[in-house]
Amino acid sequence: METTVKKLTLDEQENKGIIKMAATLIQEGSLVAFPTETVYGLGADALNPEASRKIYEAKGRPSDNPLIVHISRMEDLGKIARHIPPKAEKLAAAFWPGPLTMIFAKSGAVPLETTGGLQTVAVRMPSHPVALSFIREAGGFIAAPSANTSGRPSPTLAEHVAEDLDGRIPLILDGGPVGIGIESTIVDFSEEPPVVLRPGYITPAMMEAVIGPVKMDPGLGQEAFGVRPKAPGMKYRHYAPKAELILVEGGLPKVQEKISCLAREALGKGKRVGILGTEETRACYKEGIFKSIGTRQEEDTIARHLYGILREFDKLGVDIIYSESFGSPGLGQAVMNRLLKAAGHRVVEASEDRGIGG
Ligand code: AMP
Ligand code: MG
Repeated sequence: METTVKKLTLDEQENKGIIKMAATLIQEGSLVAFPTETVYGLGADALNPEASRKIYEAKGRPSDNPLIVHISRMEDLGKIARHIPPKAEKLAAAFWPGPLTMIFAKSGAVPLETTGGLQTVAVRMPSHPVALSFIREAGGFIAAPSANTSGRPSPTLAEHVAEDLDGRIPLILDGGPVGIGIESTIVDFSEEPPVVLRPGYITPAMMEAVIGPVKMDPGLGQEAFGVRPKAPGMKYRHYAPKAELILVEGGLPKVQEKISCLAREALGKGKRVGILGTEETRACYKEGIFKSIGTRQEEDTIARHLYGILREFDKLGVDIIYSESFGSPGLGQAVMNRLLKAAGHRVVEASEDRGIGG
């Protein structure tokens, strides 16, 4: 199959034609990759079981890993979800369109192929203007996971989608670099209080300011100890570069010393070494291939560049990547969640002396 890439431009009329073409493919049961504000999505008609199945095939995704259904209008939520509590409506009013996914009991309209066999459905209304008009034009319900090969870092550029899916899907809509760079926050309303199944840009504190207490899934960050996360997708090694990734935790000066030491050792064994740090630590590393993910002053930059940098290291053919760690409150929690998964939970402690900057 030939993959066409269509660049969205500033020309409204031209964009309309491209979105119409994408919507037609969806209505025919085909797949289209499209930009959202979090990462690029691989879309199919969420109400067509055959179309959903194609997503799993193109990505090599395990069939028990459910898809998120993307909508463009609040009035469409009730067509696919049942028992929508007032707290969920409040969160939707506060954060939709935006990087928040909510889980409800599914209606009969949603096939089990879309929900990975579950009786619940995950729903999000993205804020990216191309995503919104594409979803509306295509009929209102687009099932879309991230548009990468299963297990690889999520795509934050149309080029990343092409790297993974060229020849496997008919169309990629190129809307340029995404704004946020990590997947949506997932909150499960099939329990009370609601449970955060995946951390993201919308933090627990932001949600609690609107609806009061939310819980964190006890499985989050505990997979290494055999506790299973509730979101099926969170149990797989994920977001991972081809190289081995080791996360070094602790206070900043010690982390730099440890990474430099580990890098020297690996270089001594003839390995190609990557170091993932920040603008603040750029000057500290003398060996290996250093890449800055962003600045600790603006957590947003760290989220935005994470996956792109993991892919750049792959292109450079490094054997091993040593990464600094990032603080847990706020967006740092979501970044750490993805890094831990990418590292397959391989964490080295720089020292017992924690807390400075890290
Ligand atoms: P992706 O779009 O690739 O980020 O994957 C979607 C994520 O949402 C996966 O981690 C799924 O496990 C999770 N998810 C989707 N639907 C549900 C659901 N009904 N219950 C729990 N988790 C879900
Ligand atoms: Mg994904």
